[in-house]
Amino acid sequence: MEAFKCLRCGTEMKDAGKETIQLGQTSWLLGDLPNLLAGSLDVHIWFCPTCGKIELFGAVEKENNLLQITCPRCGHQHDFDCPKCPHCGYAYYT
Ligand SMILES: [Zn+2]
Ligand SMILES: [Zn+2]
Repeated sequence: MEAFKCLRCGTEMKDAGKETIQLGQTSWLLGDLPNLLAGSLDVHIWFCPTCGKIELFGAVEKENNLLQITCPRCGHQHDFDCPKCPHCGYAYYT
């Protein structure tokens, strides 16, 4: 990625590298849909050394750009927007 200027103060942004944000830390038993998300988001972080502004460039680096959840019954992963596990038929929203 090319260097670019801070939108706030015009200083050249510094590359702080990539970070992985973990999703799905909350138990599927306790949470609702956002907490069913599993996997991770890879983001590229840039920061302004002058004013401290941080820019994140998100990338969901999964083959099909869909986050995956793990079926609590059979343990297979599948797309999070699927109301039923395609492997064993476990239904999330009954
Ligand atoms: Zn700045
Ligand atoms: Zn299943």
